Amino acid sequence: MTESHRIARLLIVGPPGAGKGTQAQRIVERYGVPAISTGDIFRANIKGGTELGKRVQAIIEAGELVPDELTNEIVADRLGQSDAANGFLLDGYPRTVDQVHALDAVLDAQGASLDAVVLLEADTEEVVARLLKRAAVEGRADDTEEVIRHRQEVYAAQTAPLIELFSARGILVSVDGLGGIDEVSSRIADALDGKLSAVK
Ligand code: ADP
Repeated sequence: MTESHRIARLLIVGPPGAGKGTQAQRIVERYGVPAISTGDIFRANIKGGTELGKRVQAIIEAGELVPDELTNEIVADRLGQSDAANGFLLDGYPRTVDQVHALDAVLDAQGASLDAVVLLEADTEEVVARLLKRAAVEGRADDTEEVIRHRQEVYAAQTAPLIELFSARGILVSVDGLGGIDEVSSRIADALDGKLSAVK
């Protein structure tokens, strides 16, 4: 069996600027599952001027989290689409304990559970520097230094505690996010292949 035919329900977590989006693309190519990025969903809605976009724009530009209830609803809906039935990679979700519980409930209802959580580790000063560089190229509204620093604080307070929770479940895979894109993606592939063959 090749990797792409195996059901893989995956998450990638790490501080803002660790390179989750870039690595998420590599992971989905390898495992043949859809990438579901809450940040991308919100940004597309802001760009499209939808009701959802209007509700979340100011929150995102301030580097705060979109309320759990709203985020949970969007993800539950997305996970109910047929392409997510044989696996997925969530990027940027869950970000709070409440979101973990909501995700567990959605998966429980399908008789499913997470297979692995990739933690992309990176030092705060390194990620702040990367995001400032990205700001110059992409011009994301939440990439000013003040908002970048605030997003790091929000991550430390709300999201970092989830790592312990996934570790206790035995599904955490920690990978050093420092280095070239290919170097990091092959580290992730090795670590994930090992974890997935251990749980199957
Ligand atoms: P980064 O990881 O670089 O901060 P993301 O694209 O994952 O970028 O998220 C950008 C913003 O979108 C977050 O700062 C937050 O405002 C909002 N957001 C994304 N995912 C979530 C989530 N799961 N819960 C609440 N807010 C979210």
